Order: sequence, then C-alpha cells, then structure tokens
Amino acid sequence: MAKQRVLILGSTGSIGQNSLEVLAGLRDRFEVVGLAAGSRWELLADQVARWKPPRVAVSCPEASESLRGAVEGTLCVHSGADAMVEMLGACDFDCVIVGVVGAAALAPTIRAVELGKRVAIANKESFVMAGALLSSLAETTGAQLMPVDSEHSAVFQAMHAGRAEDVQRVVLTASGGPFWDWPAEKISQATLADALQHPTWDMGPKITIDSATMMNKALEIVEARWLFGLRHDQIEVIIHPESIVHSLVEFLDGSMVAQLGTPDMRTPIQYALTYPARVACPSPHLDLAAIRKMTFHQPDTERFRSLAIGHEVARRGGTAGAVMNAANEAAVEMFRNGAIGFTDITVTVEEVLRRHSWSADPSLEELMRADAWARDEVLRCAACS
Ligand code: MG
Repeated sequence: MAKQRVLILGSTGSIGQNSLEVLAGLRDRFEVVGLAAGSRWELLADQVARWKPPRVAVSCPEASESLRGAVEGTLCVHSGADAMVEMLGACDFDCVIVGVVGAAALAPTIRAVELGKRVAIANKESFVMAGALLSSLAETTGAQLMPVDSEHSAVFQAMHAGRAEDVQRVVLTASGGPFWDWPAEKISQATLADALQHPTWDMGPKITIDSATMMNKALEIVEARWLFGLRHDQIEVIIHPESIVHSLVEFLDGSMVAQLGTPDMRTPIQYALTYPARVACPSPHLDLAAIRKMTFHQPDTERFRSLAIGHEVARRGGTAGAVMNAANEAAVEMFRNGAIGFTDITVTVEEVLRRHSWSADPSLEELMRADAWARDEVLRCAACS
C-alpha cells in the first residue's frame, strides 16, 4: 500500500511535535513530505534531520536563512509570509495537519481545502473566522475536514452512533482551566503565571490563556457550529475538571454517546490521520478503576462571560466570528505583555463585538478587514480604559 503523504504546518509547536510523535509510530503508513514553522529554526533543523522532508516553509525570513545554513543536503525552503501557501501548491500530498496558532492558519487552511485534501484542523481560529466559507468550500472540492481539537474529535466520533438529523444536542466538556472555581474577586487579580497553569492539558501559551478565560470554549462553540452544521442552541458546555470525557452527543431518544480517553492530544491527532481505521497509539490507556469518579458542573456565565459571547457569535455568524477571534488574539497578546489585566481580556472582546458593524455573508476579503479592524479596535479600547 502506498504511503500517505503528510504535511505538518506548525511543526515546532505543541500540535506539531505531538503529530511527529504519532507519525513515528506510523512510518509504515505515512511519509512526511513537508514541515512548516515560524521562527524556531533550530528545532525545525532537528526535525528535518530526523524526518528528511524534501521541503519546508519558514515564515520568518531570518529564521529561513539560519535554517539554510544549518541543513546539509538538498532541501527546498519556502520563506516569508506566504511560505505555507506556496508549499501547499508546490508539493503532492494527501493530508495536512494544521497546527499553526491563530489567524495565520486561515490562508493555508483555505488553500488546502481548495486542493480537496484531508485537512486535519487543530487550529480552531480559522474555523471561528471563516467556518461558513470553509464548510461550503469543502463541499465543493471534496476536502475532508477532520477535527483535531479533542472535543470536536469526540463529537465527530460520537456522531457515528446515529444520523445527523437525529442529534438533539452536543455537549462540549471544559476542564474549566485553573480558575473555574475561583471567586470573581480573585480571578480579577490573576497573573500571567496563574493563567499559564493548566490543570490537565499541556498546550501552548495562547490556548492555555484561552482556557483560563474560557474563551477557548467560546471559540469551540463556534467551531462546532460550523464543523457539524448545528444551531447555536444545540451546543452546550459543561465543566468536567478531570478531562476524561472529551465531549458527548445526545440523540432524540435521550441516549448520550461520549468519547473518553486520557487528556493526550496524540489520540485525536492520530484519529484524524488514520480515520476510519484505529491503530495503537502512544498515549496511555484509561484505567477507570484508578480514576474512580468523574465530576460535572454547570458553568457560571456570570464569572465567565466568554461562554455567553461564544453563543451569541455562533448565533449571529457572518463577521462576528472573525471579530471575536481577532479581538481575543490581540487582547491575549496585551495581557501577556502586561498591558491589561486578566479580566480585561473578555471585557475587551465583548466591547469590540458591540462596536463592530456586522455583515451577514462576508467574503474572505471582508473577513480579513473585520479581523484587522478588531485588532486596531482592541488598541483603541485599551487606550481609553
Ligand atoms: Mg479543545
């Protein structure tokens, strides 16, 4: 059987490194034909030495120069802002893992969907921005959108238990992040170090902060809305601090079907690659008797406004997703720089959404404009508060 040819976008990040660990166990089925990274050229050089892909994409020009100097033998290096899109167009591949953080993933994701490939999406931001566009494009080109986000992978798996029209609702589980049981007063004093302490998942800094504000779950509500064609009121969130049940689907007869597993991204990454096959995976298996009990709690939308924002954005569609995502990215960046406090992140996103002039059926250009406007508006908001 011919090997499947895989590209990894964001190979030096958390998803990318986990993807390579998964692929190390699947060398008989998959071949890495390209890697893409931002600026971490030393780690990328190690990955190139180990995996020997014929080409790489490096978005930071200085890093691409350093990489060229460090790598022996022939390697095609695409460089600059369009490097990932160039690489997608230049090589033959069957599947791409999109592990790039933030809105930067949008252009390469669209390109991969245009090419009609299997697109394993770990980047929720592109789906939040342009979910309607990506879904309809995938229908036209036959691209297979495979969720890698653990909750959406769980929903995708549970959906196989029934017909799409018989789904009553989808319940996304949330670890709740480090602050879910903190009083509002204490949350408002939270520092960057507090926000970076995730209780169950080991992830990059942006998504870890999103988990602490629960904006991650707001993004996931919108992601689920477009990935599975649900109405916003069919999507619920429940706090499940143990992160064992990765999400559930409830059907019309009241049966709930869940996917359980250890909190380990290698499982959903591998499933997105091998689907519909299931093969042995390096992540540890569950020991239910050792876990003994699992708990579920209603989220508090007063302390975590982001959940209400997520529902509202999923209901409105149009440009709302792009604005929410961009405002959040910019506000998280300001929090990381010490320019705003922790609770200002959500307040800012809500304020920017309120100020924005919504459009129902935006083109990609309009979405990009809404994204840029929202980032500027975050700076203006912060300047007057
Ligand atoms: Mg998730």
